[in-house]
Amino acid sequence: MIQPFSKPIYVTRPILPDLKSVVTHLRDVWDSQLLTNNGPKHQLLEAKLRDYLSVPALSLFNNGTSALLVALRALELSGEVITTPFTFAATAHSIAWNGLEPVFADIKNDDFTLDPRSIEKLITKKTTAILAVHVFGHPCDVHAIDEIARHYNLRVIYDAAHAFQTEIDGTPIGQFGDLTMFSFHATKLFHTAEGGALAMHEPEMKNKIDLIKNFGIKNEDEILFPGINGKLNEVQACVGLATLECVPKEREKRRRLWSAYAKALKNVPGVTFLEMPEKIQNSLQYLVIRINEKEFGISRNEVYSRFHDYNVFTRKYFFPLCSNFNCYRELPSAQKNKLPVANQVVNEVLSMPLYGSLTEEQVIKICSILVSFRAS
Ligand SMILES: *Cc1c(COP(=O)(O)O)cnc(C)c1O
Repeated sequence: MIQPFSKPIYVTRPILPDLKSVVTHLRDVWDSQLLTNNGPKHQLLEAKLRDYLSVPALSLFNNGTSALLVALRALELSGEVITTPFTFAATAHSIAWNGLEPVFADIKNDDFTLDPRSIEKLITKKTTAILAVHVFGHPCDVHAIDEIARHYNLRVIYDAAHAFQTEIDGTPIGQFGDLTMFSFHATKLFHTAEGGALAMHEPEMKNKIDLIKNFGIKNEDEILFPGINGKLNEVQACVGLATLECVPKEREKRRRLWSAYAKALKNVPGVTFLEMPEKIQNSLQYLVIRINEKEFGISRNEVYSRFHDYNVFTRKYFFPLCSNFNCYRELPSAQKNKLPVANQVVNEVLSMPLYGSLTEEQVIKICSILVSFRAS
């Protein structure tokens, strides 16, 4: 038997920049005594990320969920929003928190993003927007979604929580749709411990969004509408400024580990993983395999449990499907027979460890452990 890892191997570990570089930024904050409210570090990080992500305009948030809440609000939506059940809870919840109805469409079998044909079937008079997710850093079929949106006059919001630096044919991911949300939670590739952003096309939209995320305060004497507190603070911004410097190296390391997985799992029957088509640059945030129980011999759930014996902690993202949560399962669109692909995929996928401080030797051992499940 292969020896278990002496220390637990998790699915991800955050980038932790050299503490000195964080402290250098923090010292400026301490000197200025400005801890929040669009301070100098916030402004610097906002500008840097706008360039980094090559988007016309960007607004920082205290987390990705509040960014999504504000995105839906800013577009003044009503009625129904078509979304995916194969995502983190925040996606569907932000629709519900805006008093809108999430309508679940099915996903594609190959890349797990929303299936445009499924979207189109669900459009009614009440539909006002599509909230699609670039699942595991793989972009949605943005051109088909754009075409549907134009045809039916719908707004498009992308949840790009997994898609920091994802590109399609050289076009950065934040340039598609009306608004794109990024999450900077500690588990994401780039992070500010907690944080997020919205990318948009127009400075007017940024002004509107900046107002909504700051209580609707126009000036000391005027409050325009019921806004919210979505502000990223200066301490978070300092973490972000130091972390951003580490992203290129982190992605380089992850790319090597990705190749190691690809090589080790190439000819294992019953195990497939998301190919990276040539025209797509993936964010490298997650490495997800898919297990076909019939061919592999045991189920995804069994693989997940048996990895624990070896001190390896994979994740069953995105189990359970949002459409199977108690709060949404009664919706007409949430019925299992209407979402066959999502209900199958969610039982077959497994997120594998992928982070810069993992070694290629560890990846090879993780793959050997996986292969050993098949034989025994
Ligand atoms: C992480 C995540 C979010 C929420 O982001 P937070 O910054 O944690 O609020 C939303 N959608 C998806 C798909 C995510 O993975």
